[in-house]
Amino acid sequence: MPEQYIGRFAPSPTGPLHFGSLVCALGSYLDAIAHGGHWLVRMEDLDPPREMPGAAERILHALHAHGLHGHGETVWQSHRHHLYKTALEKLQAQQLIYRCHCTREQIRRAGGHRRENCITESEGDNYALRFRCAGTQETFHDLWQGEQTQIVDEDPILKRKDGLYAYQLAVVVDDIAQGVNCVVRGADLLDCTGVQSQLFRALGGRVPQFGHLPLVMNEGGQKLSKQNHAAPLDDKNASANLVQALGFLGFHPPPGLESKLPAQILSWASARWQRQAVDRRNRQLAQ
Ligand code: GLU
Repeated sequence: MPEQYIGRFAPSPTGPLHFGSLVCALGSYLDAIAHGGHWLVRMEDLDPPREMPGAAERILHALHAHGLHGHGETVWQSHRHHLYKTALEKLQAQQLIYRCHCTREQIRRAGGHRRENCITESEGDNYALRFRCAGTQETFHDLWQGEQTQIVDEDPILKRKDGLYAYQLAVVVDDIAQGVNCVVRGADLLDCTGVQSQLFRALGGRVPQFGHLPLVMNEGGQKLSKQNHAAPLDDKNASANLVQALGFLGFHPPPGLESKLPAQILSWASARWQRQAVDRRNRQLAQ
């Protein structure tokens, strides 16, 4: 029997969803559903200083308003620190992590972190934990970005000096724990894939299929993001938002589709989803 597809959408609650995040959520949802899969929602609330109060609830509300219901309960990373700790112990046992006492200033002056210059011994517990993988090469086939070869140029931090677990660690630990075998997300995360693939293997997991969707750009040629104040999605216009996002993903929605309910729009689209129809170029939304 072929393996069940398990995909996910994993927002960080640093702000409300915007149109670019809707495109990612919708693309990952449709790819999962069209392949008879499960689609999970995971809240990546790992970094309280960067979070916006109420954003997690707003994101979940927006997903529901757009008919994007995850299978099972939403998983919250803030409740899973024990898993990240165990994963670090596993890496420690293989001597794949080490302490880094370098300051930000030292790293900046050296033009980046280099393992051979790293201050690994020092008094106190003011250190980050880094994953030994610089210099490794990863080749993979991305569903939309095609053949990729990435050389890891720096050992990434897995636990920060302030004691917070890093995104790179938590995302891989959770994808393994949740059985995720297809990761569909925005092309801004393409460059993390080499490091994450190394971590999947080091932690005994299977590297998932990756697919990086094109990014929605603003008029200034930047990716829509919370940092450049992309407008929050208006949940009251869910059907129109979905139809617009479908257009971006390569569909040609028939006139009047936006007068349907989100659930009807999603079932129309999941029956017609075609990976090869997605236009791979990062671009502005056609007016
Ligand atoms: N939480 C990450 C973000 O919002 C995405 C993680 C992922 O999809 O791998 O950028």
